[in-house]
Amino acid sequence: MFNKDLLKGKGILVTGGGSGLGLAMARRFAELGAAVAICGRNEEKLKKAVAEIGAAGNPVAYAVCDVRDYDAVTAMYQKLREELGEINGLVNNAAGNFYCASEDLTPGGFRAVVDIVLQGTFNCTQQLGKYLIEHKKPGSILNIVTTYTQTGSAFVLPSACAKAGVEAMTKTLAYEWAEYGIRVNGIAPGPFPTKGAWQRLMPSKDVEQMYLKRHPMHRFGNPEELANLAAFLLSDMAAYISGDVVVIDGAEHLQGGQFNFLTQLMPREQLKAIFQAMHPKKKQG
Ligand code: NAP
Repeated sequence: MFNKDLLKGKGILVTGGGSGLGLAMARRFAELGAAVAICGRNEEKLKKAVAEIGAAGNPVAYAVCDVRDYDAVTAMYQKLREELGEINGLVNNAAGNFYCASEDLTPGGFRAVVDIVLQGTFNCTQQLGKYLIEHKKPGSILNIVTTYTQTGSAFVLPSACAKAGVEAMTKTLAYEWAEYGIRVNGIAPGPFPTKGAWQRLMPSKDVEQMYLKRHPMHRFGNPEELANLAAFLLSDMAAYISGDVVVIDGAEHLQGGQFNFLTQLMPREQLKAIFQAMHPKKKQG
């Protein structure tokens, strides 16, 4: 579907690009012609990822950087610009999350997640925006949020609050920076099995099976599916899309529909028989 040069001329930084969905996106951007930069806190992980991303033959660079630290982010952009050239794309993907009953959260636990997700996204976004505006260059920013920014979610209060803040930032800056040619969008992923997410959020194989049973497609997402959506949104094919958050979750976020629970109760044929018995005179379909 995509031209191999779709992202040629783009220099894209993926925060947390050394593993998980960040790495899947970074790899895909490089395959589509972008110069790609990744950052994270673990240098060994970044070096390994760079080798993988570089297989596509396009320039790639990394910087060890904790996105919570504004000055470290300044130094990171400087290093990456020297090594890679222009950065005009950013994916705010780095995140932390953990289960905790909200009454048991400590201020430090709450702050740890908010600092990475919300403050980190501000640090990376504001500094890139400032640079692009000063140099009169267009750019594109993509924020990885979650579907529970809209509904909230039990046991992940810091993440829900921080990601909702990032979603507000997405819409605020999309409008404010539109006149500078800077687009800001979001992606809200459903469940994508990554080592990081599964270690923190999928306690056992039994819970995984229960999760799959209640998911409307009965499957998890494939990181390549998300990477393709990210590539499209960062590309010039999406030049008129800004301020949007695209959900990619196989319709999972719609499970609150009033009668959706019926699909979980019994096989569809059995449901149809019940509907027929309730309305015997009406021919359906
Ligand atoms: P992951 O495997 O845990 O990856 C997170 C990455 O962020 C790691 O590479 C980590 O590297 C980096 N990171 C964490 N704290 C950082 C910091 N302070 N500074 C710089 N980098 C930092 O997570 P994932 O599953 O790929 O998720 C990626 C994104 O998708 C996240 O925003 C997540 O909230 C979102 N998401 C994922 C799912 C899912 O099912 N997987 C669902 C909804 C939303 P270091 O530890 O080396 O720094």
